[in-house]
Amino acid sequence: MLGFQQLQNILKGKVVQLVQPQPVLHLLTDSRKLSQPAGSVFFAIHGKYNDGHKYLPQLYAQGVRAFVVEQGEQVALQQLYPEASILQVPDSLKALQQLAAWHRAQFNIPVIGITGSNGKTIVKEWLSALLSADELVVKSPRSYNSQLGVPLSVWQLQPNHTLGIFEAGISQPGEMEQLQPIIQPTIGIFTNVGSAHDEGFASTAQKVAEKLKLFSGVELLFYCSDYALLQEAVQQQSIKAFTWSRKQTADLFINATTTAGHKTIVVYTYQGQKQRLAIPFTDEASIENALHCLAFLLWRCLPLSEIQDRLDRLHPVAMRLEMKEAINGCYLIDDTYNNDLAGLTIALDLQASQPQRGQHTLILSDVLETGLAEEELYLKVAELVQVHKVQRVIGIGRTISKYKHLFTNAAFYTSTPDFLKAFNPADYRNEVILVKGARVFEFEKIVQAFQQKVHGTVLEVNLDSLVHNLNYYRSKLAPGTKLMVMVKAFAYGSGSAEIANLLQFHRADYLAVAYVDEGVALRENGITLPIMVMNPSPDSFVKLRQYNLEPEIYSLEQLQAFVSMLEPHMKYKIHLKLDTGMHRLGFVVEDFELLFEILEQHPQVQVASTFSHLAGADEAVHNDFSQLQIASFTRMAAAIEERLTYKVIKHILNSAGIVRFPEHQLDMVRLGIGLYGVEATGSEQEALRPVSTLKTTVSQVKHIKQGETVGYSRKGIASTDRTTATIAIGYADGYDRRFSNGVGQVLINGQRCPLIGNVCMDMCMVDVTGVEVKAGDTAIIFGPQLTLVELAKNIGTIPYELLTNVSTRVKRVFYAE
Ligand SMILES: *Cc1c(COP(=O)(O)O)cnc(C)c1O
Repeated sequence: MLGFQQLQNILKGKVVQLVQPQPVLHLLTDSRKLSQPAGSVFFAIHGKYNDGHKYLPQLYAQGVRAFVVEQGEQVALQQLYPEASILQVPDSLKALQQLAAWHRAQFNIPVIGITGSNGKTIVKEWLSALLSADELVVKSPRSYNSQLGVPLSVWQLQPNHTLGIFEAGISQPGEMEQLQPIIQPTIGIFTNVGSAHDEGFASTAQKVAEKLKLFSGVELLFYCSDYALLQEAVQQQSIKAFTWSRKQTADLFINATTTAGHKTIVVYTYQGQKQRLAIPFTDEASIENALHCLAFLLWRCLPLSEIQDRLDRLHPVAMRLEMKEAINGCYLIDDTYNNDLAGLTIALDLQASQPQRGQHTLILSDVLETGLAEEELYLKVAELVQVHKVQRVIGIGRTISKYKHLFTNAAFYTSTPDFLKAFNPADYRNEVILVKGARVFEFEKIVQAFQQKVHGTVLEVNLDSLVHNLNYYRSKLAPGTKLMVMVKAFAYGSGSAEIANLLQFHRADYLAVAYVDEGVALRENGITLPIMVMNPSPDSFVKLRQYNLEPEIYSLEQLQAFVSMLEPHMKYKIHLKLDTGMHRLGFVVEDFELLFEILEQHPQVQVASTFSHLAGADEAVHNDFSQLQIASFTRMAAAIEERLTYKVIKHILNSAGIVRFPEHQLDMVRLGIGLYGVEATGSEQEALRPVSTLKTTVSQVKHIKQGETVGYSRKGIASTDRTTATIAIGYADGYDRRFSNGVGQVLINGQRCPLIGNVCMDMCMVDVTGVEVKAGDTAIIFGPQLTLVELAKNIGTIPYELLTNVSTRVKRVFYAE
């Protein structure tokens, strides 16, 4: 077993302190993922958005006793952490990579490295499934393919593994050089050359050349030689290759692929023989991914019948883990991605991040981990369950049932139908239920049993994108500047409790809502962050105190009403809104004398912050006015602070202000629309990621004759014969009626289809002439390819309105990739 002393030999670096032999078992880079303090080494990494060194005190208090920190940390580490072993290195991320490369070098087994623009994760998952009969495979969990993800993936290598499959993704030159020595692939797969992540590269050729660096030492590289740039680059570097192609001579020549029902028949020529096989998919991307796998299996000399047998059992890879509301106030984490230990750990981490939602239940099938003896495997599962504080386990499957003695408060069923037969909804109330099952167990049936009825329209919220946007704004903040996030109006339509929970996890400093009820709902969902309420009415002051919410106070009358409700010996925090030109709410200088008088009479009231709001931060024409507002706010806030004689948080910038006036962050900023993916000044839109996708389904397809009309008031007139699709969204769902009659478009099967006729209450019709559409297809109302900014412009409004209009009857589904 690796010890801390040996770690020093590998990483070089300076030993600040070596306390006692520390085993190096778990590599920790995210303080929130701590589960086993003994044996964990925390690598404090200076990230783009966050600094791991901030979490040393917390981790030390939680029992971590081994740290790798960066030089330049000036604090007296020995005094602060007397019992910890500490190593100081120039760059902690590099050190982590170095350690992983060292670990990799201990194993002399074949390792497949996968890179390319798309399909990396799917090819990895499929190959691992296809080879599981012959090999003990270790692979990247999910799409852990980054500078940080790759070392953590490779760290999983254990002596009993016989094959490694790891993916590598890069977004700029220079990155692959770091990943190559960590993976040290002996075999390569280059999936394809697309346009994803082109931003970081000067040209596609450069991107290809950079990615090829992963394969500098491989014995064989698999790729499709129809990608001309790739073909050229591989030949130039004379890497030994196994090629497949639909157009030219190659090791594997694809004569034809034809769709037959739900399958694709592939006719190919290999070693002079023409053969045929069926792939259980029909879409282009899956066919390409499957052909890579076929090439690999042919090269391994598997008999044709065996290859067909294994291909038949391939399933689509569920790329994401979904969170949704379920019966009786339960919350479901649906993860049917795969069911090995690494995947289980990730899902349990996510569940553990929702402690406030109530009891945690895990519904788990047999774990399909090929690398461990059964007993050892379920001991590990039991340990994971325990460190993640899961209160109840429901095991489904013959194997897991054999090990029921390892679990407490657990029930076991031999199969999914058995469980469903015994299923009683009343047994589940206000809990977070993680459903994690291997494919063959068909846990989607369990998910269905737990789910509430879904009306065909959903708003999907991409939590990864939300975090990306949060971090983007955070990267603009000076150290020490606090971040308040506006989650008013149901978090701009996205779902308050879920978003607030994520913000709490990602350590926002403050939340703000418009009304007391919104704040109460957050508290009832376990949100403990300070919450400011912007428009509390006097009749809600009692509730404010009950739920520890902090009111915005904007007028003398309101302040009078508030202080008349105070109870002695209690402390109250308030936020003073100052009017500097918006002329909506707020105190003006003329109010100050009375304001100070009231505050002096009520010392139990503490002014937590003073703030004002910019009226035109989104538009450059108002820059002078914004500057005036900032100047007058600074003066007014200083006057207040002087009279109060204690420090008050001052803030004025909204999302647009953060981008436009970074020098006026003061003590805190208030992030709103930017979090949800809309950059209000328009100048940095590219840096944000769209967060929400509103989708619905096609209910019916119709053929309309020339001259006939569509919808109410006969507004949609068919100028020629048309095909229309009726989709299940109307103005009652928040789809604006101004989109009627060709103003709006929706995306169906990748094509833009204009509205025809007026938007109805629950439905509307679109012109799908020439587009392949059938009932049940998905129609996207807005999303990454049809942006809120564009839609808002079409009907003369702003993205804020479109987002917050999405009716609460539309179900919100949250997912992470
Ligand atoms: C809504 C709101 C914000 C956030 O505005 P965005 O333009 O969405 O960033 C900030 N401050 C106050 C007072 C608000 O009401």
